[in-house]
Amino acid sequence: APRTPGTQAGAIAPRCGAAAGFLPLVALVGRPNVGKSSLFNRLAGSRKAIVDPTPGVTRDRHYEKITWNDRRFILVDTGGLESDTTTEINRLIQEQTSQAVAEADVVLFLLDGREGILPDDQEVVEILRRSGKKVFYLINKIDAPEQAAKLLPTFYELGVEELWPVSAEHGQGIGDLLDRVAAELPPAQEPGEEVSAEDTVGVAFIGRPNVGKSSLINRLLGEERMVVSNLPGTTRDSVDTLLTRADKKYLLIDTAGIRRKGKVHEKVEKFSVLRALRTLERCDLALIVIDALEGVTEQDTKVLGYGLERGRACLVLLNKWDLIEHDRKQQQRLLEDVKRAVHFAGYAPVHRVSALTGHGLGKLFPLIDKVAEQYRRKFTTAVLNRILEEAVQAHPPALHKGRRVKLNYVTQIASSPPTLIIFTNDPKGIHFSYSRFLVNRFREALGLEQVPLRIFFRHKR
Ligand code: GDP
Ligand code: GDP
Repeated sequence: APRTPGTQAGAIAPRCGAAAGFLPLVALVGRPNVGKSSLFNRLAGSRKAIVDPTPGVTRDRHYEKITWNDRRFILVDTGGLESDTTTEINRLIQEQTSQAVAEADVVLFLLDGREGILPDDQEVVEILRRSGKKVFYLINKIDAPEQAAKLLPTFYELGVEELWPVSAEHGQGIGDLLDRVAAELPPAQEPGEEVSAEDTVGVAFIGRPNVGKSSLINRLLGEERMVVSNLPGTTRDSVDTLLTRADKKYLLIDTAGIRRKGKVHEKVEKFSVLRALRTLERCDLALIVIDALEGVTEQDTKVLGYGLERGRACLVLLNKWDLIEHDRKQQQRLLEDVKRAVHFAGYAPVHRVSALTGHGLGKLFPLIDKVAEQYRRKFTTAVLNRILEEAVQAHPPALHKGRRVKLNYVTQIASSPPTLIIFTNDPKGIHFSYSRFLVNRFREALGLEQVPLRIFFRHKR
């Protein structure tokens, strides 16, 4: 419910990523064209795009937080995560399925009711069955009840117990499905008492294998006067590390694989976008680690995009700077690539480091502190309203359908990231360019240069 104007900032929900515990993850898997994105959109509803002064926010969403019967979960369309068109489709689906099985709590495997079983579907079902995860087998494009009788029987050859006829396009079967999915989900997990929203910053190192994540973490943890303790994480094989430094607390999220690898040689893991998403969900600050010699990959760009979508503060770490220290050309190329990649997360600071030489590491925690402070900052309604007033005076919104658009007042409804609501007589009448103008104005006036800022428009009652 919209808050009343004049409520003071003290009442703002002190939500922060790390302290919000973790949400269960539900993954949609299936071949192209079976209807995954249709189903995703149906389940996610038509959410209004987040306003941020960045292009790219209107692109397709593959990732959404959903609430159903009081259970909250994250829905991911795995088909939208990869754009690797070079891999053969069957291998791609198997790969996606394996990742979903490793990371998700519930898997929705989608088949096309009109196509029947295709070669290799059985193999995917095998992977799913062996996983022991809860899987729902959905037969899509059953648009009318009489079609179920005709189209469903051939799918029993897959040997699965229960089939769910649905129509992503028309909505049939979706409510029942969600009821059951919600019932299967573990309750959202609260963090232990060692971690509090108020004083712990959730930090995640995200990056492809071999960019130097474990080297960085081990080097940082090796610093003097650092108190370190391991906390059980949220999945079987994850461990969070609680770290106290100069009286400040940081939760390094999901460091199990990363730290283990630093000691023993392990087989190189594949980069899992799903895992990155899961980690993004829990952190305040995502350190996106890039190998300076290798440069920015598409996966890095994607993770940055998801960070933005999720409203996370992101910090780009160009590791192995020592390798290109004397190579001006590569430096230039790299920095241009980074600029392009962070284009749609323009607030993300870029920092050069070397886990090998220690270059840049002394400044890392101060930078983290600065960003985290902005991320959690709270503002009074009076301050916000003054900025709004000045912005509107300098540059009033354009008429909409011949009517004046009034921006009545503004209030902060959340921090981590700072989130504002502006009440107006005409939420639909605010042009995208105008909301971008406002975001930039607020960002500047509030000193929020390095974190995302969200503004929503609500109808004034
Ligand atoms: P994806 O590649 O798995 O994400 O599949 P899309 O969601 O893009 O859907 C592929 C095609 O199937 C599109 O043309 C959709 O309109 C169509 N489609 C999706 N769901 C349904 C459905 O429930 N009924 C019918 N008749 N068509 C559907
Ligand atoms: P992770 O898979 O991201 O955890 O990467 P690792 O920390 O295991 O590092 C992969 C390889 O890169 C190892 O051989 C490291 O010694 C090397 N490495 C890591 N950081 C640096 C760095 O800053 N400079 C150089 N030259 N090598 C590095």
